[in-house]
Amino acid sequence: HSKEVAGGSYHFYDEKFGKRTIESVKYENALYRALERDEFTLYYQPQIDFSSHRLVGVEALIRWNHPEEGLVPPDIFIPLAEQTGLIVEIGEWVLREAVFQLKKWQDKGYTDLDMAVNLSAAQFEQGNLHRIVKQVLAETGIRPGQLHLELTENQIMRNTDLAISTMNKLKELGVHLDIDDFGTGYSSLGYLQRFPLTTLKIDRTFIRDILFDEDDRALTDTIITMAKNMGLEVIAEGVETIEQADYLASRQCMLMQGYYFSPPVPAKKLENDFLTNK
Ligand code: C2E
Ligand code: MG
Ligand code: MG
Ligand code: MG
Repeated sequence: HSKEVAGGSYHFYDEKFGKRTIESVKYENALYRALERDEFTLYYQPQIDFSSHRLVGVEALIRWNHPEEGLVPPDIFIPLAEQTGLIVEIGEWVLREAVFQLKKWQDKGYTDLDMAVNLSAAQFEQGNLHRIVKQVLAETGIRPGQLHLELTENQIMRNTDLAISTMNKLKELGVHLDIDDFGTGYSSLGYLQRFPLTTLKIDRTFIRDILFDEDDRALTDTIITMAKNMGLEVIAEGVETIEQADYLASRQCMLMQGYYFSPPVPAKKLENDFLTNK
């Protein structure tokens, strides 16, 4: 009997693996055309100041409107875009789209919103990133301080000298540099001080069990204290309940993002839900 189960499960995984491979080839071909076919779209997730309950900014999160598959999440196609190098072009599209969306909201009178954009490693290591950023800021008139570029620890640790010089050029423009998924990567405290950062974004895996898991709580407390000591802002991602929000507030971490406030939503829905009482 157990042999049958083992055989059955092997077969299952084999089939699944085969299917995955075919699927990623299928996606790869379609991904090449997705930009020119205008199939990408950005969703926006609110970032809230819990002490005033005000919307302070949004994070732009890409979605792919696949003609047959529907809305494909980034975890499926971003790795593929990175392998194929397409991520550089896609990333530039994201940056421009996000900043132009902020400009539209600005024109409607919402002048205090920030926009956070995720960068991929290849995009970050490309030599002209600061010129692209500078140009889209000039085209839109968005203040550099309204733009947050999100990087992960692993991205900046890949080639630290290059990362520091790129970040310095970006910092000179006046944009914010946020470390995404903070606490999950390899960076050491000593290293962190060498980077011109503005914000630490606590990874959602620490927030998830913050009420029950003492280790996660200790880590979160440490990150918050560390950020304060280094003069950095700190924001928690993945806040799903009022209890988690209250805990973070009790530790003076007031900036929050997560399903408790809102999932990522299309621009129109964000306007309807958050930008109406003006
Ligand atoms: P991330 O930058 O850490 O984005 C946060 C992810 O957590 C988003 O997933 C968001 O939908 C999800 N999330 C937000 N609040 C909650 C919550 O309360 N609970 C839980 N369980 N999840 C929450 P999403 O949109 O699927 O994006 C996944 C990842 O894909 C992002 O992680 C980011 O690394 C990458 N990504 C998304 N958009 C872009 C992009 O434009 N460029 C690049 N290079 N990467 C992107
Ligand atoms: Mg992010
Ligand atoms: Mg994150
Ligand atoms: Mg992530």
